[in-house]
Amino acid sequence: MKAGSGVWMSEGEKVSVYAQSGEELRVECPVCGSEAILRESLYELPQVGRAVLVSITCRACGYKRADVVPCEVRRRVRIYYAVDSPEDFNARVVRSSAASVEIPELGISITPGAAASMVVTNVEGVLRMVQDAALSIEVLQGGAKHFADEIEEIIKKGARFTLIIDDPWGISSIEPRDSAKLILEEVEGTAAD
Ligand SMILES: [Zn+2]
Repeated sequence: MKAGSGVWMSEGEKVSVYAQSGEELRVECPVCGSEAILRESLYELPQVGRAVLVSITCRACGYKRADVVPCEVRRRVRIYYAVDSPEDFNARVVRSSAASVEIPELGISITPGAAASMVVTNVEGVLRMVQDAALSIEVLQGGAKHFADEIEEIIKKGARFTLIIDDPWGISSIEPRDSAKLILEEVEGTAAD
């Protein structure tokens, strides 16, 4: 089953995905307007539980997009991870498409955009995402390249910072070797507050 491969941005790690059923629809490609295939499959994911994978593929222009929508939404969770050694960069990070990412020490706060998909990566992968995001807004903000270089230094040399993931769906997670560096906070209320 290949459909999940676009969703899981793993760093040298395979996440097992089990397809349970599939449905195919013909839709209009949002980019070129040609006929695209929309697939919906029900999965049992190790992190998320039962979830629907929705993917759109356009053969005409190559447009591809996939996302995971959980069937069971849990309580909102805020996860704090104290990174202070190079080894901490290898901690596995699962970020749902509804979760925001913050690193207060670096002034980073990324809210999930409409195009966000679920990501399985590690702390270094999160920093790479931040770097990519900075470079993609380079046109708007002159300091972005400098900021991206700063992130590169941190990836190379390490740094102390707190990685915070705030997930209204409650399915994101950080899995470090040393769980003492992790604080998990279940938050009352919904995504709106
Ligand atoms: Zn297309």
